Amino acid sequence: SKVLVTGANGYIAAWVVRVLLEKGYAVRGTVRSESKATHLRKIFSEYGDKHEVVVVEDITKEGAFDEAVKGVDAIEHTASPFHLNCDDPQEFIEPAVKGTVGVLQSALKYGSTVKRIVVTSSCAAVLTISDKSQTFTELNWNDQAIKEVEEKGRDALVMNKYRASKTLAEKSAWDFVEKNKGSIGWDLVVLNPPYVFGPVIHDVPTAPQLNTSALEFYNTIVKGSKDAKQLSSMGNSWIDVRDLALAHALAIQKEAAGGNRFIVSGGPFKWQDFVDAANSITPAIYTDLPKGNPGSGSAAPDTVHLINYDVSKARRVLGLDKYITQEECTRACLEDFKSRGF
Ligand code: NDP
Repeated sequence: SKVLVTGANGYIAAWVVRVLLEKGYAVRGTVRSESKATHLRKIFSEYGDKHEVVVVEDITKEGAFDEAVKGVDAIEHTASPFHLNCDDPQEFIEPAVKGTVGVLQSALKYGSTVKRIVVTSSCAAVLTISDKSQTFTELNWNDQAIKEVEEKGRDALVMNKYRASKTLAEKSAWDFVEKNKGSIGWDLVVLNPPYVFGPVIHDVPTAPQLNTSALEFYNTIVKGSKDAKQLSSMGNSWIDVRDLALAHALAIQKEAAGGNRFIVSGGPFKWQDFVDAANSITPAIYTDLPKGNPGSGSAAPDTVHLINYDVSKARRVLGLDKYITQEECTRACLEDFKSRGF
């Protein structure tokens, strides 16, 4: 069967395309311009006709996906802005919301063969920030970021502009399904991953062109952008991009997943954990990496993780029961960065 993957040239999406092709699916990816198809065609050339790329220039335009959805059995919608240069919050919110609703609308109108739509949301749509340790479940929603953006507009924190865009986009997807439940022939699955790390396979000629999450990993672990105190105190939760791609495949395969959102997370981290993992690799892939205070991350007795997730639902329903470790992820990232000359 055939799967449409939007934003196929992105960090996560390229891995989603790869895993789907490896599992025998045919894949149609969308990109914003013809030049962004070149690298994908190259890395997936062995799949011949089973891999195609189409151009959807502006995902915010009405009917943008009308052609792309025709004849596919499932859709993985990943395209959405995630960067840190945003002035007006609408720069994030408009493509996030209109892109999501647009895909669903096109599927309603022209996706007679579509059975399942998976939307890549984020833990950004789940978490709320506080100074207490919290464990979030699929019942939690980040209304805090929406409120901050409503109140502060351009002066809101850039991460909260992003979080608001993801929360609003996911809510608009569930609203669409609720409003159109009498006439749609497909169901919706939403994936909510935290920070995504791991090697890249999309087109990244230079390190500064890495996507937001991989760039922070690179800057922190290889370039030493955080001091020892930041390394031991700063963190979040994370998942390896290869596990997330697998989750995207499971999300279209598991019948029982329909109508659900799933938090998928490998666990909480402090940046020092990845620094220690990087420094324990022998033989070293990079020499003179930043060291911070070894052992002062998650392993330290006084460590508190503020943001934790209950991933039991993804284990139960998607069957996602094993996550790539910090050590495996770090080694794969450093080997990848090194091979690219970063
Ligand atoms: P990338 O920046 O690598 O990929 C983003 C993709 O979305 C690209 O194909 C990009 O196209 C497309 N896109 C961005 N803005 C627009 C726009 N305005 N109009 C049309 N297309 C657009 O990011 P990731 O792979 O990291 O992110 C993919 C998805 O995963 C996003 O929905 C993101 O919110 C979500 N996510 C990411 C996490 C992470 O840590 N990386 C964590 C949780 C969720 P182009 O190349 O043309 O700009």
